[in-house]
Amino acid sequence: MTFEQSEQSSYQPSDQELRSGKISMAGFLKEGQTLKQVLERDEQALRMLGYTAQEVADLLGPVTEGVANGGNFEYTAPNGKQYEVRVQTWLGSQRCPWRDKVDWRRSSGAMDMYFTEKGKGGEPVHIAGLVRHLVEKHGFFEGSSYRVAPETIVEMFGIEKIPGSLEKVKKIKL
Ligand SMILES: [Zn+2]
Repeated sequence: MTFEQSEQSSYQPSDQELRSGKISMAGFLKEGQTLKQVLERDEQALRMLGYTAQEVADLLGPVTEGVANGGNFEYTAPNGKQYEVRVQTWLGSQRCPWRDKVDWRRSSGAMDMYFTEKGKGGEPVHIAGLVRHLVEKHGFFEGSSYRVAPETIVEMFGIEKIPGSLEKVKKIKL
């Protein structure tokens, strides 16, 4: 794990910096939200789900690495669900607010993914490429429009380890 440690930085972003228009136009937090609130809500959610942040990030691993090959593709998640993945790439790259160096092949700040489960309609689920890094290094699932709750990732790609936990966790407010 020496590679991962070398990615760590000691910089700590302020709540103000994480709001819109600072380091990200959309912002990592909503107005009035604090980083502490978001982290605590999601720590509680993870405990109830029986997952660690790393395990949730690992659910995103195969798909974010697939994206590095470019283009849209079909993806079968570890739980067997099948998705159409549309990839949008950007010229600029969203940097980690903690100012770490991020390996783009693992978690790219220059792309967004849109998932539609095959055979099901509805709005695609949007997951930014940087989310895998934010989750595994910072336990941060974001608070603003780019937020993807831990229970959403587990439901999409993983399995419910504790029966009934997904429904319970969805009720925890942020
Ligand atoms: Zn980081």
